[in-house]
Amino acid sequence: MEKAEIGLIGLGTMGSNLALNIAEKGHRIAVFNRTVSRVDEFKANAGELADRIVPCHSLAELAEAIRPPRPVIIMVLAGKPVDEQIAALRGELEANDILIDAGNANFHDTVRRFRELEGSGLTFIGMGVSGGEEGARHGPSIMVGGTEESWKRVEGVLTAISAKFKGEPCAAWLGPDGAGHFVKTIHNGIEYADMQMIAEIYGILRDGLSMGAKEIAPVFGTWNKGRLNSYLIEITAKVLAADDAKTGKPVVDVILDRAGQKGTGKWSVIEAQQLGIPATAIEAAVAARVLSSLKDERQAAEKAYGALAVEKIDAPRDALLKDLELALFAGKIAAYAQGFAVMAGASNEFGWKLPMPTIAKIWRAGCIIRSEMLDTMAEAFSSGGAEKNLLMAPAFVTLMKGAHPSLRRIVARAAEAGLPVPALSSALGYFDAYRQGRGTSNLIQGQRDFFGAHGFERIGEQGAFHGPWNSAD
Ligand code: NDP
Repeated sequence: MEKAEIGLIGLGTMGSNLALNIAEKGHRIAVFNRTVSRVDEFKANAGELADRIVPCHSLAELAEAIRPPRPVIIMVLAGKPVDEQIAALRGELEANDILIDAGNANFHDTVRRFRELEGSGLTFIGMGVSGGEEGARHGPSIMVGGTEESWKRVEGVLTAISAKFKGEPCAAWLGPDGAGHFVKTIHNGIEYADMQMIAEIYGILRDGLSMGAKEIAPVFGTWNKGRLNSYLIEITAKVLAADDAKTGKPVVDVILDRAGQKGTGKWSVIEAQQLGIPATAIEAAVAARVLSSLKDERQAAEKAYGALAVEKIDAPRDALLKDLELALFAGKIAAYAQGFAVMAGASNEFGWKLPMPTIAKIWRAGCIIRSEMLDTMAEAFSSGGAEKNLLMAPAFVTLMKGAHPSLRRIVARAAEAGLPVPALSSALGYFDAYRQGRGTSNLIQGQRDFFGAHGFERIGEQGAFHGPWNSAD
């Protein structure tokens, strides 16, 4: 039988769609799944693509079915299952074969796996994939970490299956070992912030303006045609417009307000803290999901404090909607600036030389945070000025100057009305602190010196100084 060009293990949501995508692009693919019955079922349901799918019922069969050197994509649950698959595959594969972990791995695990496979003859690639089920099937964004040589060996198939933005593939090699999975993690951190800020704006429309889901849906629909054009805004409009078959109510009104999370948002925040890079909007978004999960506690607190006395926001509707749109735009810019700053910090720390313009480019299509704005970001990173922070790119200085007054007004109105906007207010706080030439840490340095004799710097003088206090006071 004709050998397959590539193999894939894990026919779950992502793996099965990636396999169909690969087959559709003309590649013969061998597939294996832990629950072996899934393999034949998958081929049986592959329609006209079935001819290019080679079902394998063991890892030995999988290895036998692929033409050496064998690229094998592992798309199973992240963590221990990946280690188990690698261990099992090591006995079946040969020198020069390439293992590609395409799940949502923690990049520390990816770095460890690289080290463990060093000298084994096998090549390892840590590959972040974004785009969910649809993306996997028709074109995801693909973030690759590994050696440049290993990327060259799989570049053809990965660029073929990736999303395209105006013809440019949204797949790229971003750096060694854990670089691809790190970038995917930060992508998800930004996604958390983006989604949380959208939910906060929805909260203002629902609770501050008493608008129903059906009224809010077209607001997001209109925004999707302008500066906020993005996949997340597009699906927000669709989610708000959908009806529940059981009750006839808008489906969003019957969904419990308890958000799930799988860990990548939390990892973003942990890495940001480890690197000493502020990512306050992402932190606020992760914390907001945790708070949302405390449904019982929130209900008890509502009883203890009384329901939030939401004061209806009283302002001309059109002007307020414009302000909300711009506030969301400004909040998004701050959150993306934070995400890119974390990646720049990691790039320095781990010597990755992450290509920021390329990252912005491969996020323009295929992935969950795809948007018009990422094209502007790609240009800003290419033109210079954004090396330290996206907020310093000339194009974004102009955009933020136009948008931050709205963010300020909306956060102030929400606070006054008693509406929680943790991510938007964190984004505003970050922006204000970032652009304040003289902040208030002079007082913190005074306090630190007072209780701990930590010393402080004086304006315009070299050296360490102490204050005129006696800490025993
Ligand atoms: P699914 O739950 O749909 O599928 C999981 C797959 O992993 C199944 O094939 C399952 O096999 C296999 N598996 C689970 N445990 C083991 C194990 N111990 N040993 C071998 N195989 C195992 O998950 P997804 O397809 O959604 O996710 C796969 C990976 O992709 C994850 O890392 C996820 O974080 C990542 N990802 C998911 C996205 C999404 O939108 N869903 C987006 C981007 C990345 P079996 O059939 O036997 O249970």
